[in-house]
Formats: sequence, structure tokens, C-alpha cells
Amino acid sequence: MSFRLFDLNDPQRHAATTIEGPLLILAGAGTGKTRVITVRIAYMLAQKIDPNSILAVTFTNKAANEMRERLAGMVDPEVAKKVTMSTFHDLCVRILRTDIEKLGYKKNFTIYDEGEQSGLIKKIITKTAAIGEKLEPNLAKSLISKAKNNGWSAPQDEKTLLGSVFARYQAALKQLNAVDFDDLLLLGVKLLAEHPDVRERWRNRFRYIMVDEFQDTNRLQLEMVSYLANREDGTSPNVAVVGDDDQSIYGWRGAEVSNILEFEQHFPNPTVVKLEQNYRSTNAILNTANALIKNNPRRRPKKLWSGKGDGDKIRLVQAPDDRQEAEFIANEIARRKTGETLQFEHFAILFRMNAQSRLLEEALRERQIPYKIVGGKSFFDRREVKDVLAYAACTLNADDDVSLLRIINTPPRGISDNTVERALELSIKRKCSLFQALQLPELRKTVTPRAAQAITHFVGQLDHWETKLNEPLVDQVALFRRIINESGYYEDLRRSCKTPDEALKRESSVRDVIEGFERFSQHSSEGLRGYLDAMALRQENEDDKDKEQGNGVMLITLHASKGLEFPHCYLVGLEEGILPHDRSKLEGTLDEERRLLYVGITRAQKTLTMTYCFNRFRYGGVVPCNPSSFLKELDPEHIETIDLKKMLNTPVEAPAAKSRFAAMRAALEK
Ligand code: ATP
Ligand code: MG
Repeated sequence: MSFRLFDLNDPQRHAATTIEGPLLILAGAGTGKTRVITVRIAYMLAQKIDPNSILAVTFTNKAANEMRERLAGMVDPEVAKKVTMSTFHDLCVRILRTDIEKLGYKKNFTIYDEGEQSGLIKKIITKTAAIGEKLEPNLAKSLISKAKNNGWSAPQDEKTLLGSVFARYQAALKQLNAVDFDDLLLLGVKLLAEHPDVRERWRNRFRYIMVDEFQDTNRLQLEMVSYLANREDGTSPNVAVVGDDDQSIYGWRGAEVSNILEFEQHFPNPTVVKLEQNYRSTNAILNTANALIKNNPRRRPKKLWSGKGDGDKIRLVQAPDDRQEAEFIANEIARRKTGETLQFEHFAILFRMNAQSRLLEEALRERQIPYKIVGGKSFFDRREVKDVLAYAACTLNADDDVSLLRIINTPPRGISDNTVERALELSIKRKCSLFQALQLPELRKTVTPRAAQAITHFVGQLDHWETKLNEPLVDQVALFRRIINESGYYEDLRRSCKTPDEALKRESSVRDVIEGFERFSQHSSEGLRGYLDAMALRQENEDDKDKEQGNGVMLITLHASKGLEFPHCYLVGLEEGILPHDRSKLEGTLDEERRLLYVGITRAQKTLTMTYCFNRFRYGGVVPCNPSSFLKELDPEHIETIDLKKMLNTPVEAPAAKSRFAAMRAALEK
């Protein structure tokens, strides 16, 4: 057993060894909250607690994986594997896959991602809206999502357009045997609430529950934890939560910081542990973060200190425009890497919006600096990736209309748009899935013999694959490969691409998907269904391809950076309108923007550079911009301001150049 309790300070150790009853760790950034959870699990295992009875919930797959790795380093990896570490969504999928039938869905339900969700909502709006009525699909999507996260069900009457769209959307999902992200939570909680037998089963399974980043839980997630943790016999629940009210950044998704601030009300008489020593950052960084967050009303005051010394001042760099901002950072990283003998992965660039990453990527690429981007869902947005995943989805659940529509004529198989339209109408009239409608004699009668034949062939193919998939001991990876081959998809890809180069690229991403499944199968027994679930649950803000791990500068959104740390951080675009974001003023969420910046600052371990531009390319043109109002709140004592324009026009001073040269030489000689 190689974990050592003496690697913890006193309050940390107290928290890690308190395993019975409710436990609340409410502490600032970098104080070791996540570390305590991990050591606490190792401690439990050392006390011979059954690993199967331990559940640790985190917010991203990345965080769950990291915790899993850390634990595997502390205890027997075979034992570590048996501990459940997952996101709320993962957990819900597991619960639903065993018992969703009790809610009137079939077990092989499909999980719709945002794109599929939008597609369905758009279709329903077009069908539902009267002439002159308008509803923006994205707005409808976000309002429906909000309603669901509040636990509201669709209205029974259809008084408003939004109400009817909501009701029809829910009905359509059910008919398609599909659920969206919000449903996962909603239905998971519903199942536990309405079915005592299910609830008891999971309660007995998980005797020890931990939740990281509890400040970002919403109402439903709190309910979920309560259902799992509370005991029928009234004994006190073994539930430990950790979090920091200053890092609550998911209010826009319905997170309620009161969940952690009023923890006592949900789980009475908890052991409360405060952690005050920050082990991550220098005092310059920590004090800058503290000076900022002080401006938020309604927070629990905290004392945070670090033993790491003052460290370098925070640099505030003013750039003429966003291109020069990006080039400055890329040049500097290249230089610091050699000069200070650092690795590329010691650097992170943090930004507020995905759109900000493009110029940064370009600048890094031009200098051949490797980088990893978190927040890019580009791989999974590629049409060929979606297509092959749709083949898999239809093999598992032919009633999944959205996936079926994707592949019904990809490759073209002689089923015309007209025929598809007719089948869709029929499926609405008969309240059945598209796949079922395709098989109705009513449809056959109205289409050409050629189309009828094409339909028969296609239906037969899907049936055949499904049968194969359900054979015991089938090699699912080989079958998946065969399905894609037999479908004629590769030939179609070659035909439909403009250049052979493009075709090669697309073919290779199809193979990536299949290989992804192969890798997945090596450590999971959940098969193609499990793989599709995992793909659907990848959150937008996550690293997808295992192969990309390792080297590279990290490009990451502030939201996704939660819980992580990097030696050297660049926080870019600190301008009014970006951070704080334009919307925040209208929506009254300025405090949350401040917390977001606080999260960003507290990711840095050794140095922090913040940048802003005087001009930025936005909305299709160059717009002048102002520095973020948050910058005024920082303590000037720790800040050094650098005017990039001036700096670029001043020749590098001889001594500085010399020492840099010496450092480079020293690095080469190592
Ligand atoms: P955040 O609020 O950002 O999620 P956190 O409170 O979860 O931060 P951790 O990520 O657990 O903090 O820890 C921050 C850093 O401090 C990590 O590198 C961790 O290994 C280190 N650390 C924590 N506790 C100790 C300790 N007692 N001794 C040495 N290092 C520690
Ligand atoms: Mg943490």
C-alpha cells in the first residue's frame, strides 16, 4: 500500500479519515480538496471497505479519469478498478440501462447529442408553428433544457407555441426511444423517486458516496445524491462533498450554489472541514485571485495562504490586436521552452469563448508548437464520424429515427426523398417509428416497385446486422467493421469527396471510430452500446482522442479548466464584452463571470500572464475594445504591465540577450 496519510496536513487528514456520516469540505482553490477525496478512497480500501460500494462523482470524464489514475497509483490497480468513478450523466445511464422500462422506454434507448436534439426541435417547430409564428430553435432548446433541469414536465395544454413544441418534443423522443442529456438526469431521478425497489438496490450498492465540485450541482443532482445516500432506517448517510462557492460557474446550467452553502439542511450534522493552505500557486497569484473575488457579495469569506513564496509578478500584456496577442504568446512559449528548459505541456492558454482559439492555434501551428485543444468537438462533428456512429446506433435500435434518417440514403440506395417524406408522414399518423413505417404495406403500395425493393433490401440488412449483434460471443469490433464495409460507405465516401486527399482523410477518421471502439472494448465489457454511450457523453469540453495525450500546450476554455493546474498560464482576451461576457450584464451574472476569472487565475502554479487587446476581429470586422473592468479590481502591487507595442520597438537589452543565450547553451549541454 503506497499511499501515505502523512502526505496530508492535519485538516486534510481529518477529512480523509472521517468516513462515516455526512462530511462537508468547503475550501478555496488549490487547497487539496480533490486530493483529499482520492486519499480518502485509498484509506477506505485500506480499511477493507468493499470497493464496489464506493462511488465518487465528478463533473467531467477527464476529472474522473484523472482520479482513477491517481488512485491506481496508490492502491492495487485491480481493486481501484472496482471503485465507481463517474460523472452524474454516466451514473444515470447505468441506472437507466437497467430499469428504464419501468418508465415506459425500451432498454436500448439512444442518447441524443446537441446536434440531434436541435435537428428534432427544428423539425417540430416547422410542423407546429402557425403562419407568422416564430420561435428560434436554439432559444427553444435552451428554454426546454432549463425547464427540464428545474424538474418541470411538458405542459399538458398547448396554449403557447413553446409549450406545444416542448410537449411534442418530449412525445417524439419517447416514440423514438431516445433521451437527451437533460432527460438522463431527469429520468434517473424519477426512477429513483418513483420506484422504491430500484432505489433500494442502488442504495445498497453504494454505501459511501463522494462528490467533487459540489458547488456546480443543480437541483436534480442534489436530489440524486439524496436518494442514493439517505438510508431507510434513518442512520446517518455516508456522503462527502467538496467544493468552493467561489468557483461556482455553471449557474447558467441551473447549478445552485446553495446546495453546498446549505449542505447542513440536506444532510444534518455533518463534519465540517476547512482547508486554508493552498499548495498550488505562488502568493502573487493567490493574492491576485483573492483581491478579485473579494468584490463578490454573498460569499463565505476564506483565508487562503501559500507557502510557495511570492513568486514572479503577474504580467498584464496590452496587445494592439488579437493576432499580435496570439503571436506574442506563441513566440514567448517557444522561447521560454528552450530558455527555461520547460516542456510544452507546462503551458496552458485559457480563454472565455471557443472562437478565441483559432488565431492561437494558427500561431502555434506556424511555429510547429504541438498543442492539445480541449473544447473542440470537431472530430465528432465530422459528417463521416456521425455517419458511422449512426450505423452503429441503428443496428442497436432501428427505431432511432434521427440516426436512420442519416443513413437511409448514405450511400444512396434508391430510396428517394419523396419516399422518405411519405414514410415520415405515415410514422406520425400511425405513431410508429420510421423503421416500422417503412415496413407497412400501406407505404409499399404508394411507392415504385424499385423503391419498394430498395426498402426491403435495406430493412433486411439492418435486421441481419441486429441479429448478428445479438448472437452470443459475437466479436463486436469485427462486426462493426463488417457493417461499415457491407454498407458500401467507403465507396460512397470516395465518390463524394472532391479530392483523393479528402477521401483519405475521411476514411481514416472512419477507421479512427472503429479503432476507438476496439480500444474501448479492451477495457470495457459494455460493447457497442457502451461505446456509443461513452461517445454521446463526451462533454463538449473534453479531450477525446486518447492518442493525443501527452505533449503539447493546452488550449482550454475557462469552464473546462476547472479542477486542473498548469505551471505557466496565459489568460487571454481580458476585455470588456469577452470577460465579463456581453450577455452577463443583461442577464445579471456579473458575479459568475468574476468567479470564472477567479477559476482561471487559480489554475496557475508558477507564472501567470494576462493579455488584452485594443482591437479585436469580431462580428466580421475589427472592433476597438476596452480592458476588462475586472482588471481594476486586482492589486497593483502584484502586477507588472507590459505594452507590447513598446516592447516590440525596443531592442532586446544586451545583458538580457546574453543571459538568455547562456541559458539556452546550458539547456543544450544538459
Ligand atoms: P480546485 O479548487 O482547483 O479543484 P483542489 O482544492 O481540488 O483545487 P487539488 O487539485 O486537490 O486542490 O490540489 C492542488 C495541488 O496541491 C495538487 O497539485 C496537489 O497534489 C497539491 N497538494 C494538495 N495537498 C497537498 C499536501 N498536503 N502536500 C503537498 N501537496 C498537496
Ligand atoms: Mg479539485
